[in-house]
Amino acid sequence: MNCIFCEIAAGKAPVEIIYEDENVLSFLDIKPLNIGHTLVIPKRHYENYLDLPADELRNITLISQKIAAKIVKAFEPDGFNIIVNSGKAAGQSIFHFHYHIIPRYSDDKVKFNIVFKSYGNGEMKQIAEKIKNV
Ligand code: 5GP
Ligand code: ZN
Repeated sequence: MNCIFCEIAAGKAPVEIIYEDENVLSFLDIKPLNIGHTLVIPKRHYENYLDLPADELRNITLISQKIAAKIVKAFEPDGFNIIVNSGKAAGQSIFHFHYHIIPRYSDDKVKFNIVFKSYGNGEMKQIAEKIKNV
C-alpha cells in the first residue's frame, strides 16, 4: 500500500516531529493553515475515524489534548481547531486517520466557506429519531 503517513510513521519520509511513542506520531503539517498546524497520527494504518479501535482512539485523543495544550502554550493563539476529515467529500486527502490541531487568531483570515442549512417544521425531531434509531 502506498501511504505517505505510513512512510512517515516508519521514519522513511522526513517530518518535523512534535511527539513520538510506540503507537502515535505527531508532526508539523507541511502546508499549515496557520504556523504550528500539527497532525497527530496512529502509527498503524486506519483509513478514517470509524476504523479506529476504541483503545487507539482513546490513546490518540488524550495525546492530542496534550499536544493542543503545548501549542496553546507555545503560540498563545486566540483559539484552536481540532479537525478530523473523514471521506473525500469532507476534505480528507490522506486516507490514514489523523487529527489536525490548528492554532487560530481573531484576525487570521482562515475562513471555512459555510452556508448553513435550516430545518422545516418538525423536521429536527424526525432527523434526531433517524440517527437515534440506527
Ligand atoms: P486531510 O486533507 O487528509 O485532512 O489532511 C492531510 C494533511 O496532510 C494536509 O493538511 C497536508 O498538508 C498534510 N500532508 C500531506 N502530505 C504531507 C507530508 O508529506 N508531510 C507533512 N508534514 N504533511 C503532509
Ligand atoms: Zn497509512
